[in-house]
Amino acid sequence: MTASAAPASQTPEELFAAVCDHARRVAVLASVEALLGWDEQTFLPPEAGSYRGEQAAAVAGIVHRLRTDPAHGDRIAALAAGPLAHSGPAVVVGTIRLLERDFTKQARLPARLVEELAKTSIDAQQAWRAAREASSWAAFAPWLERMFALKREQAACQLPDRDPYDALMDDYEPGASWPAIAAQFERLRGQIVPLVRACVDAPQRPDDGLLRRACPVADQRRFVRTVAERIGFDFQRGRLDTAAHPFCSTMGPDDCRITTRWDERFFPTALYGVLHEAGHGMYEQGLPRDWHGLPPGEAASLGIHESQSRLWENLVGRSPAFWEWCFPVARDAFPGALAGTTADEVQRALMTVTPSFIRVEADEVTYNLHVMLRFDLERAVMQGTLAVADLRDAWNERFETDFGIRPPTDAEGVLQDIHWAAGLVGYFPTYTLGNLFAAQMMHAAETRLPGLDREIAAGNFRGLLDWLRQHVHAHGRLLDSERLVEQATGSPVSEQWLVASLQHRYGAAHGL
Ligand code: ZN
Repeated sequence: MTASAAPASQTPEELFAAVCDHARRVAVLASVEALLGWDEQTFLPPEAGSYRGEQAAAVAGIVHRLRTDPAHGDRIAALAAGPLAHSGPAVVVGTIRLLERDFTKQARLPARLVEELAKTSIDAQQAWRAAREASSWAAFAPWLERMFALKREQAACQLPDRDPYDALMDDYEPGASWPAIAAQFERLRGQIVPLVRACVDAPQRPDDGLLRRACPVADQRRFVRTVAERIGFDFQRGRLDTAAHPFCSTMGPDDCRITTRWDERFFPTALYGVLHEAGHGMYEQGLPRDWHGLPPGEAASLGIHESQSRLWENLVGRSPAFWEWCFPVARDAFPGALAGTTADEVQRALMTVTPSFIRVEADEVTYNLHVMLRFDLERAVMQGTLAVADLRDAWNERFETDFGIRPPTDAEGVLQDIHWAAGLVGYFPTYTLGNLFAAQMMHAAETRLPGLDREIAAGNFRGLLDWLRQHVHAHGRLLDSERLVEQATGSPVSEQWLVASLQHRYGAAHGL
C-alpha cells in the first residue's frame, strides 16, 4: 500500500485527491485498531488479552508505516508548495496545512523513540497497577522518571522551537500555550476554592440519599437508552455497551460506540456516564461525514470534545429544566425507588459538593481543582522546576491547600491516575478547558436560542443540538479551539462563564 512518488504531470487537484485517498486508507486501518480496542474493553474474554495485544501491535505498526510513508510526505510537500495551499477553497487550504503539520510531527519522531515510548508505556502501566495496589510511590517513581525523560525527548524532536510542555499539549489541544491557560486556571482556582468552602459550610446542603435506593440494572439500561436517544444520539449509527471505564470510540462515519457502567444502588453513575459519552458521540456523529478520515471530518481538540460531553452531562443533565422532562421518565423506570419524590428533590440531590480524593468520582465543582493540580505539577516536572522524586510531597501539599484534606495513602493521591504511566503528559488541562468551553457555549446558546429552557423542559433537545452542529461540529478541525469558541460564542475564551455558571447553579442548590 505504499504510494508512489508524485508524477510531475499530476495537476494540483489530482495530487490533492491522491493525498486524501492515502489519508482515508490510513483512517480505514486506524478504525480497525479502534475496533480492536473497543472489543478489548467490552467483550474480550479474560484469557484473550495477550493475543489481542499482538493483533493491536500488528495493526498499529501498519498504520504508523503508512502514516509516515516518505512518498506520502513528498506528495504533501509538493501540495504545500503549490497553488492550492494558498489560493484553493478554504477547506482545501486548511486540509493541506493540517496534513502537512501532522506528517511533519510524525516524521520527526525517530523509530527508536516511538518503540521506546510504546514499550515504556506498557511496562510503566503494569508497574503503576502494582504500585497503586501496594500504594507504593517508591515503586513507581523510577518509571515516571523514565517516562518524563522520554516525553522531554519527544517534545524536543517534534516541536523544538516550542516550550516542552506546549509541545506535548499540542497533541491534544493544537496550538495551546501554557502561560495563557495557567493564568485562566489561576483565576478559576481563586473562585472555586472559596465556592467549595461555602458549599461545604452551607446551612442547607443537598443530600443525595434518595438517589441511593436500589434500581435494577435492566431498568437502568432501558432508561438511559431512552435518554440518550431523546437528546439526539443516533442508534442507527451507534451502540451503547458496558465498560468498567466508560468511553466513546468511533470506528467509521456511521459507527460510534459509547459505553457506561452500572451501580444498582446509584443510578446517576449510569445516567451521567451515558449523558457524558453521548455528548462525545453526538459530536462525532455531527462531524462532516464526507470528510471522514481527513482534518475537516475530525474533532478540533480534546478540549472541544470534552466541552460537548460536559455540556450534556452537567449543564443540560443537572438542570431543573432537564429534570422537569426526565423525572416522569425516571419514575416510570424506577417506580419503587422514586415513589414519593419530586423532580425538584431529585435535581437538588444531584448538586452535592464534597471534597474527595479521587478525580473520576469528584463532583462538578471540585473536579476542576483536581485537574488544575495535575496541570501545575506535570508542567513543573516537564520544565525542570520540580523533581519527579518530590512529586508525591508536592501533590499532598497542594491537595491540602485546595481541598483542606490530605490523601491518607498514595493510591488515593499521586498514584490514582493512569495518564502519566501511559505517557499522556499535557492531557489533563483539556478536562478543565472542556468545562470552560462548555459553560461559554451554553451561555451563548441560551442567549441565541430564546426559550431554550422551556424546550428542554418539554424534552425537545433538537434546537440545542442543531446549534452545536452548526457552530461547533460542522467546523471539524479547521479552526483551533480558541478560534472555534470565539467564533461560536462571539467572545474570546474566558473562565468567567464557568465561574458564573458554578456560582449560580451550586449557590442556588445550597441556599447561598
Ligand atoms: Zn470525556
